[in-house]
Amino acid sequence: MEQTLSIIKPDAVAKNVVGKILDRFETAGLRIAATKKIQLSRAEAEAFYAVHAQRPFFGELVEFMISGPVVVSVLEGENAMTKNRDLMGATNPKEAEAGTIRADFAESIDANAVHGSDSLENASIEINFFFAQKDIC
Ligand code: GDP
Repeated sequence: MEQTLSIIKPDAVAKNVVGKILDRFETAGLRIAATKKIQLSRAEAEAFYAVHAQRPFFGELVEFMISGPVVVSVLEGENAMTKNRDLMGATNPKEAEAGTIRADFAESIDANAVHGSDSLENASIEINFFFAQKDIC
């Protein structure tokens, strides 16, 4: 079974749509193998998004990700990584297909409701960033 990491970002948590977003995952056949609500520190957000450190939007991205709590989850199922990316929709909600999480819940390219691992290799790294193996079941 494939596993991937999902983050419900501060904008969606603030809008109180955590349950609605988790429901999208379950309805699509993904299982929530672990989940928790946390407040990221600046150092954690910078480390998590280190691959984007040289991008012009890195500062804004980090500020946004620490602007309020997030809900991180391990999603499990067949083709979990790709399935989650399909459910999320395009990075820019204005370009996201109708019926995707970003089309329905996101406002802008930075406040875009969710993060999802973009490869199996990154999924493994990102899951280990937030969860111990014993907390995934
Ligand atoms: P994702 O995999 O669809 O989340 O997209 P990326 O990995 O390319 O970018 C990571 C995150 O950085 C996105 O989800 C956005 O929150 C943010 N981001 C990407 N491009 C931009 C941009 O041009 N401006 C701003 N402010 N944020 C961006």
